[in-house]
Parts: sequence; structure tokens; C-alpha cells
Amino acid sequence: MRFYEDQVLTRYIWDHYSYLMTEQERERQSIYFWIQSAYTTDHLRMKAFMLERANKMAEQQGFEDMAVTLDQLECLDEFIKKHHQFRNTTCDRIVHDFVDKIFINRCPACDEIVLTPKAQQCLWCGHDWH
Ligand SMILES: [Zn+2]
Repeated sequence: MRFYEDQVLTRYIWDHYSYLMTEQERERQSIYFWIQSAYTTDHLRMKAFMLERANKMAEQQGFEDMAVTLDQLECLDEFIKKHHQFRNTTCDRIVHDFVDKIFINRCPACDEIVLTPKAQQCLWCGHDWH
């Protein structure tokens, strides 16, 4: 149950509080974005371009751990694991550093985290507190 709650919280923080990311976290996120785009496109030249862009950014930022070759792109398990880890770590840091800025909106009936900080309806149990 705890793992599931973490996932929900991470998504909630990512969707509504990602503006609290540091410059470095933002850079990493952009690189992940380019790698993911390279992975999902079928267009070979586009793939190479996006990967080159990601690698250049990683190099400029000194993120050697983020360099990805075209071969590695075919087997993305490791990448996905790293990206999840990055998201979790970033969210943990945001929650920890901005306790006063973050409102984790929970359903008064079932205590689950609802979709947005302003939501007044729970998609988990259907409770509505408008
Ligand atoms: Zn609920």
C-alpha cells in the first residue's frame, strides 16, 4: 500500500509543484524528456537528433551518468528505472524543503490523495465535498 501511495504522491507533486524544482533538476528533466522522445519516435534521423541533443545537454551540465548511446536506447529498462528514481528523489526533496508551500489534498472520507490541490471530489471513492 505504501508503494502505491508514494506513486500517487509523486504524480501529485510532479503535476502541481514541479515549479519548485531546482535549476539542476529542471535540466535533468529536460534531458529525460529528450531521451524519452528519442525512444518513442520511429523516425531514425529524428531519433539521432534528439539523442544528440540530450547528450549535449548532459555533457554541458556535467551529468555524465545521463549519456545514452543509440544502442542503449533499444533497451530502456535501466533508463526507466533511473527516471523513476529521479522523479521520486526530486519529489521527496520538494516535499521536504517546501512543507509550508505544499498542500496535500486528501479526501475527507477515504483519506486518499485527490487529483489536484483544489479538488473537492474524490475519484477513488466518489465522495464530493463541494
Ligand atoms: Zn475518497
